[in-house]
Formats: sequence, structure tokens, C-alpha cells
Amino acid sequence: MTLSRMPTPTDPAPCAEGEDLYECLDCGARCCSAERLTSCPDCDGRVENLTEPRSE
Ligand SMILES: [Zn+2]
Repeated sequence: MTLSRMPTPTDPAPCAEGEDLYECLDCGARCCSAERLTSCPDCDGRVENLTEPRSE
């Protein structure tokens, strides 16, 4: 019995503590940033925060 390997489309990038994961809606680039990103560093497109914002 072999386990079929499921393709992992998008691994959530491991971000350091205190960093949020952002994904560009235009080019799909992902990056972690401790500061709030408003535009993609690559294409200057819109980015979405994939990390749940947590208030402390
Ligand atoms: Zn982009």
C-alpha cells in the first residue's frame, strides 16, 4: 500500500514570530514582514495579509 503524495499547492511560508505572511494578489509572491505591507515588493501590486491579525 502506497500513500499517494498529495500535491501541496501552497505551503504557508514559515514566518518568524511577530511576522505576518503576505501574498501578492497580482503576482502571487509571498513574503513575511514584521511591518505592515501595503504593496508587493516585487510588482508593487496589492498584497493580502494571510496571517490572522492578533492584538496583544
Ligand atoms: Zn507582486
